[in-house]
Amino acid sequence: MEKYVIIITGANSSSGIGWASAVEMAKKQPKAIYVTDIRDDQLHELAKKLQDEYKVDAIARKVDASSEDDVKAVVDEALATYGRLDVFFANAGICMLGRLHNETKADFLKTMEVNAWSVFTAIQHASAAMEKTSDTKQVSGGSIIANASIAGLRSGAGPISYSASKAAVVSLVQSSAWRLKGKNIRVNTVCPGFIATDLTTPAINALDQMDSTAIRDHNPLERFGQPIEIAATVAFLASTESSFINGQDIRIDGGLGGSYRHVP
Ligand code: NAD
Repeated sequence: MEKYVIIITGANSSSGIGWASAVEMAKKQPKAIYVTDIRDDQLHELAKKLQDEYKVDAIARKVDASSEDDVKAVVDEALATYGRLDVFFANAGICMLGRLHNETKADFLKTMEVNAWSVFTAIQHASAAMEKTSDTKQVSGGSIIANASIAGLRSGAGPISYSASKAAVVSLVQSSAWRLKGKNIRVNTVCPGFIATDLTTPAINALDQMDSTAIRDHNPLERFGQPIEIAATVAFLASTESSFINGQDIRIDGGLGGSYRHVP
C-alpha cells in the first residue's frame, strides 16, 4: 500500500477498533494515515506511534464524523496534500444501552446521526475523492470500509437504536456498492461481535455481575473478541489482497452468529 492515503474516523481510544486498525494498516506501509475522532486526548499519541514505529505520515485531526463539513474538510485536506485518497474507514460510533421504552427520540436520532449518517456522508465524500483521483484500470481504485455490527445483521435483546443504526449501515453499504458500479471503488462492512473496548465496557460490567456461564453462553469461543481481531480484516479490506470483495458484510464474531444476544 506504499502510495496509499487513508482516513480513519473514531480512532482516539488506544483500546478501540479504530486505533488497532490504524496500526494494522500502518504495518502495510501506506504513504499517509489521517487518524480522526471527535475527541483528541489520545489521537496525537497514535499519530506519533505511527510515525515513529512505521515511518508513515500520520496526521491527527479532530473530526466529528457526523458533521458533513468536518468529513469534507479532512477529505479535501488529504486531496490537497497528497493528491489522492485510497481508503476511508468509517469507524466512529456510539451505543446507548437503552430499551424500547426508555430510549427517547433524541437518543434515537443521535444514534442514527453518529452511526449511520456518518457512514452516508463518508461514502459520498470519500467516493467522490477516490473517483477523481483513481485510475479505474488499477486493481483497486479505492476501498471504503464501514464498521457496522452483528447487531445490524440480527438484533437480539440489545440496544434498539444501536441495532437499527447498524442495520442502516449494512444497507447503505450494500446500496453504495451498486451506486458506485463501474468506478472500481469497493465498499464493505465489518460486522464485529462482542469486542472488549470502551464502547462495550458498560455492557461487559453488567455481564460480569451475572453467573459466569452467561458469558460462556454468549459465544462458542467462550470469550470476547479483541480489537486486533477486527483490525486485521480492516487492513485486508483496505489492501488489494481483497480486490474482488465488494458490497459484503464481513461477520467477525467468534461464531456467535444466529444465537446473538447482545446485552443481558
Ligand atoms: P470506542 O469507543 O473505542 O470507539 C468509538 C470511537 O468513536 C471513540 O473514540 C469515540 O470518541 C468516537 N466517536 C464517537 N462519536 C463520534 C463522532 N460524532 N465523531 C467522531 N468520532 C466519534 O469503541 P469501539 O468498540 O472501538 O467502536 C468502534 C466501532 O466499532 C463503532 O462504530 C462500534 O459501533 C463498532 N462496533 C463495536 C463492537 C464492540 O463490541 N466493541 C461491536 C460491533 C461494532
